[in-house]
Amino acid sequence: MVSFVLPEELRMLKDNLRRYVDAEMIPHERDSVAEDEFRPGWRERFQEGMKKLGLWMMDVPEEHGGGGLDLLAKSVVWTELGRTIALPAREDLITGPSVRSILYSLEGELKEKYLLPVLRGDKRACFAQTEPDAGSDPASMRTTAVRDGNHYVINGTKRFITGAARSDFMQLMAATDRSKGSRGGISCFLVDMDTPGVRLGAQYQTMMGDKPWEIVLDNVRVPATNLVGEEGKGFSLAQKWLGAGRVKHGARAVGVAERSLEMATSYAKQRVTFGRPLADRQGIQWKLADMYMELEVARMLVWRAASLIDQGEEARVEAYHCKYYCDEMAFRAIDTCMQIHGGIALTTDLPIERMWRQQRSYRITEGASEVMRTVIARHVVKAYG
Ligand SMILES: Cc1cc2nc3c(=O)[nH]c(=O)nc-3n(C[C@H](O)[C@H](O)[C@H](O)COP(=O)(O)OP(=O)(O)OC[C@H]3O[C@@H](n4cnc5c(N)ncnc54)[C@H](O)[C@@H]3O)c2cc1C
Repeated sequence: MVSFVLPEELRMLKDNLRRYVDAEMIPHERDSVAEDEFRPGWRERFQEGMKKLGLWMMDVPEEHGGGGLDLLAKSVVWTELGRTIALPAREDLITGPSVRSILYSLEGELKEKYLLPVLRGDKRACFAQTEPDAGSDPASMRTTAVRDGNHYVINGTKRFITGAARSDFMQLMAATDRSKGSRGGISCFLVDMDTPGVRLGAQYQTMMGDKPWEIVLDNVRVPATNLVGEEGKGFSLAQKWLGAGRVKHGARAVGVAERSLEMATSYAKQRVTFGRPLADRQGIQWKLADMYMELEVARMLVWRAASLIDQGEEARVEAYHCKYYCDEMAFRAIDTCMQIHGGIALTTDLPIERMWRQQRSYRITEGASEVMRTVIARHVVKAYG
């Protein structure tokens, strides 16, 4: 049966979290974060709040001591948290340590060395895939890992790596056979940041405040046991969790659009020009109506993709659809919200300019919109006509 409403327990979760965000986060959202990090004390304060709401370790499976929420429930949480800029854009960490799903596939020594310390909050990891000449097309990466006895020797440069300086190890993608590219040529390694030959290069300043790093790998010797899964299977391993990541993008974007609509509507009702509130003008009403309709379409896309994945389906195209449509829609929403506010939107008194900058960046990072459309187009050409 198709259902367009959330189950009762998720409605309660949403309402409780909304109350927390409105009371404890939004009033402090211009104070809690400096650039890409929490100011002292704020992470702990929000973590306490998440614990009280029962959301601590929500995305860690139950067998590892977490809440093991399904994707639909997590989407509800991401949407509510997406309504505020009280969190750093790319590393929130308030619902527990950030555990990349690939780590759950580890066994034995690797599990002891990497997964368990991350779950305890003792170690942090970054994800190193992008390179100066390979972003949207990671299969063309030049970083190579060459087998040498019981080790791999890795050489190359990674660019734009979030959190590299505060990480203990990286989840590194490298070419083990450049001639095969995405079809069996890319492998995934766990590399300690203090391995000889690993060096942080340039740090980039971005308009969002994020400051990702360049990582240089110069003859880095990594034990062959640090290869995750089989050689050449790096991309297919990642596919399992990338779908959920795209739904997360969509869910967060729905929160951005919802807040944009709230701010735009309430401002339009109180701002009087030429003797009448902006909300009385058809030119403004139609903008609000479009924002509302697009928001509701996006919400349904997120719930659908999340529900399908929860039912065990791959929902690959639906997840691409989420990332593309919702990130683009949320940028239109915050941009319209900015326009309706006029000059005050451009000041740092309101959260709008920061939300705008963050949302603009999501049309490029973690899968640019054009790449999403290309995959969706491939599906359309195959399935229709
Ligand atoms: C703040 C920030 C944090 C980041 N964090 C990380 C991280 O932690 N780890 C990591 O590995 N990477 C990270 N990245 C990298 C990010 O994911 C890439 O920037 C992104 O994938 C785009 O790659 P690119 O910049 O090389 O653009 P390019 O791939 O050069 O693309 C440029 C433009 O061309 C478009 N385009 C590309 N191919 C086509 C095509 N075939 N048809 C039409 N249009 C096309 C793209 O959509 C884009 O608009 C981060 C980047 C930033 C800015």
